[in-house]
Amino acid sequence: MAEIVLDAVSKRYPDGALAVSEVNLTVDDGEFVILVGPSGCGKSTTLNMVAGLEDITSGELRIDGTRMNERAPKDRDIAMVFQSYALYPHMTVRENMAFPLRLAKVDDKVVRTKVEETAEVLDLVEHLDRRPANLSGGQRQRVAMGRAIVRSPKAFLMDEPLSNLDAKLRGQMRTALSRLQNRLATTTLYVTHDQTEAMTLGDRIVVLQAGIVQQIGAPQELYDQPANLFVAGFIGSPA
Ligand code: ADP
Ligand code: MG
Repeated sequence: MAEIVLDAVSKRYPDGALAVSEVNLTVDDGEFVILVGPSGCGKSTTLNMVAGLEDITSGELRIDGTRMNERAPKDRDIAMVFQSYALYPHMTVRENMAFPLRLAKVDDKVVRTKVEETAEVLDLVEHLDRRPANLSGGQRQRVAMGRAIVRSPKAFLMDEPLSNLDAKLRGQMRTALSRLQNRLATTTLYVTHDQTEAMTLGDRIVVLQAGIVQQIGAPQELYDQPANLFVAGFIGSPA
């Protein structure tokens, strides 16, 4: 469990483009915050800076009050799931999900319990002994989530995890994500450009445009009181 603070965080890529501009955001312990905005607005860059996959140009990232800017990704205790998920094809679901725990030299019995608990939350119990090739896209994405979350990281980052799935599967995955959040209450930062996901999954939504935060608020708040026309248009309420 963790509180994530972005304090005037900016990103300028070497070629000179300012991709993220002085973002201020606190994700509270156990909160599910959604980052939305059109393609190229800086969502992935923001997430990658939190994960440590991109350097922060200026500003400070703190997790539970500790500065993280210079800390390597593996020392941040953060799990990340991307749009393109890579499972180990030669391993079963159980082995895939157990992998991060085995790396961490967790005791066999604990591995078993953790994997089975996680599989239960993600509705994967009857698939534990299958290999990825024999799963549907939605099931595979749930395994990827399970593998990320199984070691109880401080925070969970997801970058458009459902965008490769069809509408029906996306609906099922929204349900799975809600259940995951209810059960585990892991601090989560979730990127999407899908308004339904934003409106139904998030405790709060951050609307980004061209690297600048336009508004932060609960879904209903953004819908009822958009800060500007951009937010109104994006969230879908009449201006
Ligand atoms: P989003 O995830 O919202 O689509 P990104 O964070 O990927 O947006 O990109 C934000 C901006 O930064 C875009 O203008 C993009 O072209 C630029 N950008 C992203 N990655 C790089 C990179 N590695 N080098 C240079 N510019 C980049
Ligand atoms: Mg992106």
